[in-house]
Amino acid sequence: MDITKTIQSKIEQTDFDNLSFGKCFSDHMFSISFKNNEWQKPEILPYGPLSLNPGTHVFHYGQAIFEGMKAYKNEQGETLLFRPQENIKRLNRSADRLCMPRIDEAIFMQGLTTLLEIDRDWIPQSDSMSLYIRPFMIADSEFIRATPANEFKFMIITSPTSTYYAGKTNLKIEQKYARSVVGGTGFAKAAGNYAAAFAPTKKVQNEGFTQIIWTDALSHEYIEECGTMNIMFRIDDKIITPKLSESILGGITRDSIITIAKQKDIEVEERRISVSEIIEHYNNGRLKEAFGVGTAVTINPIDSITFNDTVINIEEINENSYATVLKSELLGIQYGKIEDVNGWIFKL
Ligand SMILES: *Cc1c(COP(=O)(O)O)cnc(C)c1O
Repeated sequence: MDITKTIQSKIEQTDFDNLSFGKCFSDHMFSISFKNNEWQKPEILPYGPLSLNPGTHVFHYGQAIFEGMKAYKNEQGETLLFRPQENIKRLNRSADRLCMPRIDEAIFMQGLTTLLEIDRDWIPQSDSMSLYIRPFMIADSEFIRATPANEFKFMIITSPTSTYYAGKTNLKIEQKYARSVVGGTGFAKAAGNYAAAFAPTKKVQNEGFTQIIWTDALSHEYIEECGTMNIMFRIDDKIITPKLSESILGGITRDSIITIAKQKDIEVEERRISVSEIIEHYNNGRLKEAFGVGTAVTINPIDSITFNDTVINIEEINENSYATVLKSELLGIQYGKIEDVNGWIFKL
């Protein structure tokens, strides 16, 4: 691997106490190109601009996919990754769907671990902070014929972040737009899924809501996800969450929370969940909690859900809520404070 280090680190000018999510980037980046049907020599170089001609394929047809994961420091100052193989597998599922080349686990892991060694001072030593990792792939062939590109770039950039508190979360159940459809790209982490979600999201935010609860594209009767997170409900003492499908993204946080809940003898059901079922549980007093789950916020309790004229107000979260208990368990494992019985932690 070619390694070029920065002449002037930006770390001294970085205010780690006032990080806003995804705006500050560490000193280096990993990059590897795909040409002539194979991955070329990997390199690490100072974080900086790319030079791409206007005819570059990704600008026109959006062959772009990404991942989101975090590196944590434990109390001994060692760097920990959480289930990185799951991110690689998902990146390759996304690559297959978007007609992009797969990346070897070895290339990905070597690039990532070398980058994290070089930028290790950017991983905050604090259990309320971590280094957000953004691997991504774009099509950088230079042609605008509407056929798949044959040249690509895979890169990894990183950004220090604090575990942010999302504030009050008031969601609206979407009845017109769809984030994804069965047969589409909803299960892939495709950049275009996000582009398509921005306008509907902005619309509900203008109405005073925080985010959308996405429903199935055909009937808008079944709940799929909330914002860019998977969603879970607590009905009495049981957790229910939409079963994965082609239109739902399989979150690694979702999978981990399901596993941890079961290990704590909490019953978990993965199945279709209709909007009317949730309203009925609410009316019967059985809906105790609702929360979103994803890498950026771990677990985000939901305060209210609005469906047309019905407003579901969820009680204040208390200390023993499932959201609180499961979140502290997951964070404990991620920061190396709680024993990792599932073999999820990769130590550098
Ligand atoms: C990334 C993402 C999630 C959460 O996945 P994690 O692996 O838990 O971070 C959920 N839904 C969508 C649409 C996503 O893009």
